[in-house]
This record gives sequence, C-alpha cells and structure tokens, in this order.
Amino acid sequence: MGNKPNILLINPWIYDFAAHDLWSKPLGLLILAGLLRAQGYNLKLLDCLDVHDSRLQAIPGIKPATRRGFGTGKFYRTQVPKPSSLQQFDRKYYRFGITSEMFQERLLEAVKPDAVLVTSTMTYWYPGVQESIRLVKEHFSDVPLVLGGIYATLCREHAVRNSGADHIISGPGENQILKLLEELTRYSPEKPSHDVELDTLPWPAFDLLPQLDYICTLTSRGCPHRCPYCASDLLFPKFIRRDPIGVADELEYWHKKYSIVNVAFYDDALLLDASKHILPLLAEVRRRDLPVYFHTPNGLHISGLSAEVCEALFLAGFKTVRLGLETGDDQRQQQLGAKVKPGAFSSAMDNLIWAGFQPEEIGVYLLCGLPGQDPNEVAHSIRMVRDHGARPYLAEYSPIPGTPMWSEALSCSPFDLVNEPLYHNNSLLPCQSEHFGLKELQELKQLCRF
Ligand code: SF4
Repeated sequence: MGNKPNILLINPWIYDFAAHDLWSKPLGLLILAGLLRAQGYNLKLLDCLDVHDSRLQAIPGIKPATRRGFGTGKFYRTQVPKPSSLQQFDRKYYRFGITSEMFQERLLEAVKPDAVLVTSTMTYWYPGVQESIRLVKEHFSDVPLVLGGIYATLCREHAVRNSGADHIISGPGENQILKLLEELTRYSPEKPSHDVELDTLPWPAFDLLPQLDYICTLTSRGCPHRCPYCASDLLFPKFIRRDPIGVADELEYWHKKYSIVNVAFYDDALLLDASKHILPLLAEVRRRDLPVYFHTPNGLHISGLSAEVCEALFLAGFKTVRLGLETGDDQRQQQLGAKVKPGAFSSAMDNLIWAGFQPEEIGVYLLCGLPGQDPNEVAHSIRMVRDHGARPYLAEYSPIPGTPMWSEALSCSPFDLVNEPLYHNNSLLPCQSEHFGLKELQELKQLCRF
C-alpha cells in the first residue's frame, strides 16, 4: 500500500440545441466514486453541469438556469458555434453548464491528480467530452485519462479515434476501473478488488456534488425486454436487482443526512416482478415514514401497473409518473416487441386513477420518427392518450449503434449516422423522410398541446 492516489472525476458539458435538467446526475460516475472512495482513493469531482455556483449569475452572455419544481430546471447555457456537420440546421447551438474559464480555474485549484476519469452520456454530446478532455490535457498532459459511460460504450471506435482519452472503458465500469487504476497508480487498495455485486456496492457519492437538490437511484440494472430500438442490454447485459431493503436504507440515509425529498428512479424495469421488488421497497419506505417524492423519468412498464402497484405508488408519494406506451398502433406495437398488450394501457390508466392520480398528472411517452413511421400513426397515438385524459410526451427516436433497429435506421436516414454521432441527435429527426420531417414533427407537438 502506498500513498493514496488523487483521482479527478469529470462530468462533462452537454453540447446540444436544447437540454433540461430532468433529474440528470452522472449516476454511473458517482457509483464508481463511491466504490473508489471505499478503496481509499482521494476524490475530487468537477461537475460541468453545476447550476449552483453563484458566480455564473454575473457572467455576461450566459443564460440563467431557472429552477423548477421537484429539483428540476434549466442548465446555464452559452451559445457556441455549431460543428461543421450541423451547419445545415438553422438552430442555435449551446454549451450547457459552467464556462470554460470556470472549468480551467477549477483545474488550477485542484491537486495534480494521479488519474482523471471522465464520464459520457448521449452519443451526440461527445463535443462536451472532447472539450473537457482537451482542457484537462492542457493542464495535466502526463496524467492518464480514462473515459467511460454511454458514449464510450456505444461508440467505442469513435471515442478511441476522437475523444483524446488515453483509455476507454466500455460497459459497466466497476471491475474494469479498479483493475485499471491499480495498474496506472501502482496503488494497492485497502480492500482487494474482486467482482463487484450490486448489493455490496457502496452508495453513489452524491456528496461530492456541489449542492444536492435531489438524488437518482438505480434499484436494478438492465431490462429483460429486448425492444429493438433500445440500448438497455448493450449497457447492462444482465438484468440484476438490488435488495429492496438495502434501497430503503439508502433513501433513508440521503433523506436524513442531506434532507433529500426528491428521488428519481433511473431503472429500466422498476415494476417487474413487483411482489419481490417495488412493493416491498415502497412498503418499507412507508413503514419508515420517509417523506420523499418519487419520479420516474425513464417511464414505467404499463404491464406492471396492477391496481395493487398503482395504489402503492400513490401512497408512497410518486409525483412524476411517466408510462412507456411508445405507440397506440397494434401493428407497430408488435414490431417494437409487444411489451404493451391490447387493452393494457386503458387498464393501467383505470388503475392509476382509481389509486388517486389525476389523469393529467400522468405522462405517456410516444415514440416518434421511427424508420418508416407515418406521422398519422403518431397522431392517432396522441389522440388515444388524450382520450384517456393523460398527457402525451413525444420521444423522438434516436438511432443507437448495436441495436436491432440500427440497420433499418441506416438504410433510411439521410444522415451519415455511422461516422458522425452528432446525427444521432433525436431532435434532428435522424430517420426523417419526405413524409415525416421537422414540419410534421412541429404539427404533432402542437397536437400534444391541445
Ligand atoms: S422495456 Fe424499456 S428499457 Fe426494456 S428494452 Fe424495452 S425500451 Fe428498453
């Protein structure tokens, strides 16, 4: 065992036309941070998406980060030049988060690290990854830099060629990072590294963030469904779950120690096998009398919304309920994996309303801009959701390399999806056609409002 190494963790900027803080925290990076801290490493986090640094309010040209309910809100944003491959789009492009100067000041304040870990999320946000790596390399040119996260997993080759990182980790990072850091820092941790299990992982190190409005939690990883457009099994090949009582322990800890009242579930399959997972978890939350509000930005499986589950969600304090319907068209539903059986959406809505939710509080995700999709199909789905009193939310399709739908996306997209991840950006409607373009998308958005 030598001196404890210093590790700098970086949550990079978002570069996009639009972005909102809907319970977005770098959970994967914070999970690794919890693990590394337990192994004895010294950690510092540089969060480019910090919205709480008061100096930001005084910077000319930066748009404010208005905060909204339940811990959500806007990020600070600065207009930046569009990359050349996006010049054809007549929209403003932004860097969301702190300024470059603040980033550099924080690097100057930091002790020289023994390694830098950078996370990544959407594939089309890679310019923020590149820029943060470029600046780190300017300051600490001889410090090994490791990139992980979603972009590094789904577009590994692109990241190897373009990110500037010295090492790329793809897939779940816990075991890989322990081994790599031992090699890079020649440090022998206090506990020997071994295969990490979900229930033995330390809790995410949310306390490294400058200020906590809410936490996010993953009570499971992966999803047993295999919807052809989804990356869940590429990111988490096995569906595994935590012990529900251990999850309640974690929620109680954050509530009591940091007064957290808003919790967003990042799970892909939260309701699966409810009697063994969500029901005991929520019963435990109520038994401990934890006054927290829950939010489900990832969407809940409609098939899991029995009357018993809906009642448990309502009584436990679920405030943001989003359902993954994807389409109201039976044929399309079959093509997408048939996870919503005919009649299941109506039953789920009945159960939610019976349990106490107001229909207009219930948001329903509808996929839009799928390869070959007709806008009338989406319009029909919007009307179906509205007929039930719920709110439709359009989820524009983003093509994801490695998914079953990827080849279909390649064959119909007018953009070079293979070589330029910027074109995966769902707001561009990457699989648009002459029948379904941005004009039709605007009309559908209008239909959602009325
Ligand atoms: S059910 Fe949801 S998380 Fe699971 S594979 Fe389908 S889209 Fe992905």
